[in-house]
Amino acid sequence: MRRTERLHLQQPYLSACEAIVTEIHPEKGIATDVTVAFAEGGGQISDCGVLTTNDGEQVNFTDVQKGYGRLLLINDFPSIQIDTPVYHKVAPEDLAKFRVGQTIKIAIDTDRRNRLCVSHTGIHLVLMGLERLKTDIYQSIRGCHISTDKARLDFMLDDKFTDEQITEAREYTNQIIKENWEAKTFAHPKEPEAMYWQTGDTVYCCGGTHLPRIGDVGEVTTAKKSLGANMQRVSFTFPKAVFRKELFVT
Ligand SMILES: [Zn+2]
Repeated sequence: MRRTERLHLQQPYLSACEAIVTEIHPEKGIATDVTVAFAEGGGQISDCGVLTTNDGEQVNFTDVQKGYGRLLLINDFPSIQIDTPVYHKVAPEDLAKFRVGQTIKIAIDTDRRNRLCVSHTGIHLVLMGLERLKTDIYQSIRGCHISTDKARLDFMLDDKFTDEQITEAREYTNQIIKENWEAKTFAHPKEPEAMYWQTGDTVYCCGGTHLPRIGDVGEVTTAKKSLGANMQRVSFTFPKAVFRKELFVT
């Protein structure tokens, strides 16, 4: 299996690229040498989009998944899979339209990606609000899901967040969104696939998709829910988000 270079890590707003087909897998789909498509990971659902063959035929891909690579072992970074192939899932009847070695074009659905950038940036900001109330909250995260219209974090906590604390965290989140802080991503000096996200003085290890400034997340709403004795879910939505098409380049 050949690794796929994930161009979006260093060029986060590139929406299309040319690629060479490296593998055709009956279930996983089409693997390529490079891609602009985000593969599901870190709780974030994948991109969708279109593959165009060199005959001009357009084939939708509906999911993107990483295959097996190697485990990153750096002391100060989570153990993530790197050097993986990336598969673009297509309908079974479309597999025959591809052959290994063929050059294709990969284009992502930028409306979906834009929503995922907002959703993902927003969940970091909500976490920053919660972190002011419980400084070690990051270690209590047990689950995370980031989709196109909402995102959530699941925590294992002996003392759960109260309604007042959730309100306080939301007010902080909305305040910094209003201040429209800059946000950036950068790679670990020893590993280009080990990515960080930063806004202000806050840095998280994260290979997801984000906005360049946090203001476009808009005013967020938050909700909490008990998932059992020590488990609590905090979810949020972004009804006032701004989606800028001009963010993306081809
Ligand atoms: Zn992130």
